[in-house]
Amino acid sequence: MEKKFTFGPVPSRRLGRSLGIDLVPFKTCSYDCIYCQLGRTTNKTTELKEYFPVGEILRDIRKRLGEITPPDYITLAGSGEPMLYSPIEELIRGIKEMTDIRVALLTNGSLFWIDTVRRTILEADLIIPSLDAGDEDTFLSVNRPHGGISFSAMAEGLCSLRESFTGALWLEVFLAGGITDKEREIVKLKKWADRINPDWVQLNTAVRTPAEDFVRTVTKEKMEEIAEFMGPHAEVIADYSKVHDRGEFHLTRDDVFDLLKRRPCSLDDISKGLELHRNEAIKYVQELLDHDLVRTEKRNDKTLYIVDHNI
Ligand code: SF4
Repeated sequence: MEKKFTFGPVPSRRLGRSLGIDLVPFKTCSYDCIYCQLGRTTNKTTELKEYFPVGEILRDIRKRLGEITPPDYITLAGSGEPMLYSPIEELIRGIKEMTDIRVALLTNGSLFWIDTVRRTILEADLIIPSLDAGDEDTFLSVNRPHGGISFSAMAEGLCSLRESFTGALWLEVFLAGGITDKEREIVKLKKWADRINPDWVQLNTAVRTPAEDFVRTVTKEKMEEIAEFMGPHAEVIADYSKVHDRGEFHLTRDDVFDLLKRRPCSLDDISKGLELHRNEAIKYVQELLDHDLVRTEKRNDKTLYIVDHNI
């Protein structure tokens, strides 16, 4: 069977209907964030590589676009850090030659300090990099980066990106309750966010099951307060339930629910059982959790999603 690199379109809080493109093998990343919804990183690396042939990925995108209603964005994201994919420039160019659909890049932002890497993604329409810490110590404890990445290099790289990239730049800041929602951390984060000067600062928190149990959700009220402090271009990322109201998304959510009614499953079980990308499965599971239709339980280090039969 041919490998699939596309997933979705998935409903996205920010991007409407987003066709996801996976460029690296599962959990190949330069970080091992404590909040990662995909679990712990299994291949922490800064090695840039053509993990899959660029021609095969472009072929899959073309095929998928022929099957679906055009999405709002084609999003380079997926199972790890997309900037580790060495022919990313060729890939973006290939997409641009194929369609007018906007290209978004979801990245941890760890590699923009390398000039040659930064130059490869300037043709994207939207870049959403992360900044989750305001100094080296917090960076080490929240993002657990590869040893070759320092906080100052990473953050200066984001400033350089702003200078050279003419598209839209939305900076995503993940706040971990009890860790980075403290005033002194927010003050440091704001200093860097002001220097980077993105179009938007988007505040996020643990609304999905994080890699580490100790990561807590910051309340909506506190998030709003922090957004106000961060300035007029800061916002708490809005709920995406409205996007889910569209028929095509309900179908898959119901499929996930039906599977969970039959037996408790981990995220891996769901994605294998329904041939869904993990990112896609997470969204549907989250929606079921939000509606109290499923609950989670840890068994042998695994998070299982369970439907109680009296629901
Ligand atoms: S959240 Fe993103 S950057 Fe952090 S470990 Fe997961 S995939 Fe990597």
